[in-house]
Amino acid sequence: MIIKKDNYKEKLSKLTKDNFNIVTDFDRTITSSDSIATWGIINNRGILPNEYDFERNSLYNYYRPIELDPNLDEAVKMGAMEDWLNKHLDLFKKYELSKDNIIDVFSVEDMMTFRKGFLDFFKYVDDLNIPFNILSAGIGDFLLKFLEINNCSFVNIDVRSNFLKFDRKDIVIGFKGPIINSLNKQMFAYEKEDQDYVILLGDQVSDIMMVKGYPRENIIAIAFVPDDNMQEMESFKDVFDVVLTNDEGFDEILKDLKSVLDNK
Ligand SMILES: [Mg+2]
Repeated sequence: MIIKKDNYKEKLSKLTKDNFNIVTDFDRTITSSDSIATWGIINNRGILPNEYDFERNSLYNYYRPIELDPNLDEAVKMGAMEDWLNKHLDLFKKYELSKDNIIDVFSVEDMMTFRKGFLDFFKYVDDLNIPFNILSAGIGDFLLKFLEINNCSFVNIDVRSNFLKFDRKDIVIGFKGPIINSLNKQMFAYEKEDQDYVILLGDQVSDIMMVKGYPRENIIAIAFVPDDNMQEMESFKDVFDVVLTNDEGFDEILKDLKSVLDNK
């Protein structure tokens, strides 16, 4: 199902080949809904001891409902998200996640795939040299590795994410910067620079905070609503110009974009 706001087409018609950029979430926005997210990718792979899987899953089962609860106070939620990621990072340290593990994990099997039509969309905007910015509360090392093995390391990409820091033996000792979680993305938002418009893509209502400094009418916001978050459908419809259910891909968005840009 695809729901478009009445003024979406009009907003889109303002775009030219050099007046916009893209800011997007990674996990389950670019990747398909049945992909494992970067934070879950080490789980159940036999790469770290079983105790890691067990402890990681208990954290997930405790914190994921908090992340999705629309009725919880934002500050409480934010604190919980910080705790979650810090505790998970502690598990990486405790069970000594290494640089090699990041390579190993992608050789196991296909745990991540792109959302349908993404590669065509990506290729189209890359050919036009549109700046492509990824803001992810996931783990940047896995994200980049995934793009690399899929030959998506194009020039005009910028990635803001949680990048792991390793000791001299290549074991995780922390993150390189402050931790980005799903609710504090506004602290790491892409500010308006050279382009007047932005196409924003996400799969959480809070992803709307990934940009700063644009008038609302210059943000074309597109969301894929996760199956387990349908209770927030009304918020998605309020905030985003296009709302797609989880089974949808990038085809329709690419078609709309082409219909505007190909004639300019
Ligand atoms: Mg996501």
